[in-house]
Formats: sequence, C-alpha cells, structure tokens
Amino acid sequence: MPEPVKPNAINLLDFDRKGLAAFFVGMGEKPFRATQLLKWIYQEGIEDFDLMTNLSKPLRAYLKEHCCIATPEIVLEQQASDGTRKWVLQTSCGNRVETVFIPEESRGTLCVSSQIGCALACTFCSTAQQGFNRNLTTAEIIGQVYAAQNRLGNAGKITNVVMMGMGEPLLNFDNVVAAMNLMMDDFSFGLSKRRVTISTSGVVPAMYRLTEVCDVSLAVSLHAVTDELRDELVPINKKYPLNELMEACRENAKLAPRRTVTFEYVMLDGINDSLTDAHGLVKLLETVPAKINLIPFNPFPNSPYRCSSNNRINQFKTLLNDAGIVTTIRKTRGEDIDAACGQLVGQVQDKSRRHLKLQLQTSEQNGAAQPSV
Ligand code: SAH
Repeated sequence: MPEPVKPNAINLLDFDRKGLAAFFVGMGEKPFRATQLLKWIYQEGIEDFDLMTNLSKPLRAYLKEHCCIATPEIVLEQQASDGTRKWVLQTSCGNRVETVFIPEESRGTLCVSSQIGCALACTFCSTAQQGFNRNLTTAEIIGQVYAAQNRLGNAGKITNVVMMGMGEPLLNFDNVVAAMNLMMDDFSFGLSKRRVTISTSGVVPAMYRLTEVCDVSLAVSLHAVTDELRDELVPINKKYPLNELMEACRENAKLAPRRTVTFEYVMLDGINDSLTDAHGLVKLLETVPAKINLIPFNPFPNSPYRCSSNNRINQFKTLLNDAGIVTTIRKTRGEDIDAACGQLVGQVQDKSRRHLKLQLQTSEQNGAAQPSV
C-alpha cells in the first residue's frame, strides 16, 4: 500500500528534468540528482525513497519528509471490443478526466487529457458541453502516462502520445510542455519527438511559443475552410481567423519534426463535407506542408450533427489525395466504451457555467420553460 500523501507535500511528478534540477540545486544538492530521480521513478518504477540507493541517506530522508510521487487515482477501467482501453482518473479536487489507450499492430497510442473539461465551445465536441473546471497539473498529465503504462504492464507498450483527450492543451501551456518534455526525456519515457503530438484548436500565440520551446509534432483541428463556418464550429476562430492560423502553421512546419502539420477535419454531414469544401481545403493548404486526417464524426447525446456517409468521406479523401495531399481517415476506436474522439467527458464540476448556458439554449430551441441560470 502506498503511504497516504501528506498535505503540502511536493509532488515530484510536477517537474521535468530542468525543473527537478533547479529544485535540487535550490536545496544545495547537485543537479545530476534530477536524472537519478527520473530513472528511479520512470524507468525502475520505484516510488519508495528508501529504495533509491544512489541518493544520500539525508536526501532520502528529506524527500520522504517533504515530497511525494502521486498520480491521479484510477476509479474506472474499461476495455472495448477492439482492445481500446479507457481509464477514468480522479483528480484531487474530485473531478474526473479520461485517458485512452489505442493498441495497433505496430504501435500503442495513449490519448492524454490536458484540462478538466474545456473552456472552448466547439459545437461538435462533447467535452465542450461539460464546461470547464481547471487546468491539469504536470503531475496529473504525466501521471496519466505513468498510470496507464503501469496498468498495461506487459499487455501493451505506449509508443506514441497524442494530446487529444479532454481540454485545449495550448491553454495549459507550461504544464503541458513540462509533461511533454518528460515524455521525450531519455531518462523518463524516451519517446521520440515524432511520436508526441499536440493537437490544438488554433490558439495562435501559443503555437508560436510552442515552436520556440518544444519540438513536438503539431496537429491542428481545422474542420472548416471558411471563416464563416469555422467561427461557428470552432469559435476560437473569431479571435484567431484562418489567415493567422495558416501563418502560424507555416512557421511551425519550418521546424516541426516531420516538417509538416497534420490537419484534423471532422466529417459533418451536409455541413463541411461538400466537394467545394474539399477544393477549398486544397486551396487553403497550398502553401502549408500538410497532411490531413479526416475524422468521422462521433455522435453524443443531443449533438446537432450527423457523420458524413462513408461514400462521401472516401470521395473527399480521393479528391485531396489526387491533389497531392497525404490524407488518411481516422479509424474510430473504442466507440462501445465512449472512448472515441470527442466522446471523453469525465466528470467536470463546471466553473464556467457553460453546461447551464447550453441547457438553456437547448430548452429554448425545444420551446420548453427556461431553467433559471
Ligand atoms: N482541444 C484540442 C484537442 C482535443 S480533441 C483540439 O481541438 O485539437 C481531439 C480531436 O478530436 C480534435 O480534432 C477535435 O476537433 C476532434 N473531435 C472533437 N469532438 C469530436 C467528435 N464528436 N467526433 C469526432 N472528432 C471530434
């Protein structure tokens, strides 16, 4: 049994290597203690400070007294018929977030959450309907990888991480960057920068910052080729319209690990899936080194959209491929346990009161009496 976490204990999972080195230097220790500690935690799976034999006894005693290694608690584990696994994790504040493992023949991808809920209001995403509580800490983000790998044991290896769970990762910049540094650190998970992907709805200033400080693969949730439609589907577009988004993508692609940006495009029947849209996409991406990932829309209760037909998705793909853009269709995984894209909801005590506003809109649409907000 792990010892109960002391109140105010410093969670060592909150630091990447640089942060940990600064922490040790601050207490008069040498910076290389950081690599020793990372190896114990992430490579050896040791959480008991007494067993960290290359640390001095006084240092072990100090860590025992003041620090902890604490991950969010797994409160539910589900496995889908296709082998996809979902974990529901309870955070210290009583909210819940979700993490999904998607096994494939040649890789195992973990889909990690960055926030409790989401403050953005993308109309086709069920996380958005939950409202927003707070950013996850670095420990809660890297803790998802740590806890998932522990649970998987020999049954699966995490080879790729995508920051595509709940939340907008670029609105939790510092904590997400520190967690991604740990994912890529040779003394921790050691994933290559090609195998760590951050997905954003298009927070343009943070995209530039990311390009400067952290070398990971970038995916952008595009979903529309005109500002008019994107304003509606991905409302942050009103703040950072397509021309600004594309410029940020061009800058990122110059340095990106794969020298390309992946554009995600959710296929919504009759909304953004016409062949005119496909031609518009080709035009929009003319000057950006791009790959496209078409995502069949995953429905959720009360969602106003339907998924495009397979026929239409294939036509869309062919048109893009013929125009020379590498285009794939994302396989929907884990549907039977609500683990597919946009279906992660966790349990969010909404501080943004967004879910109330949505209830109000829905009841207005249905002509029902309005709840008092
Ligand atoms: N906030 C980030 C990451 C989270 S979502 C972002 O917007 O990129 C990961 C991907 O799933 C995004 O491309 C998102 O637009 C997409 N998505 C959200 N809801 C969906 C749904 N119901 N069906 C299919 N894809 C969805």
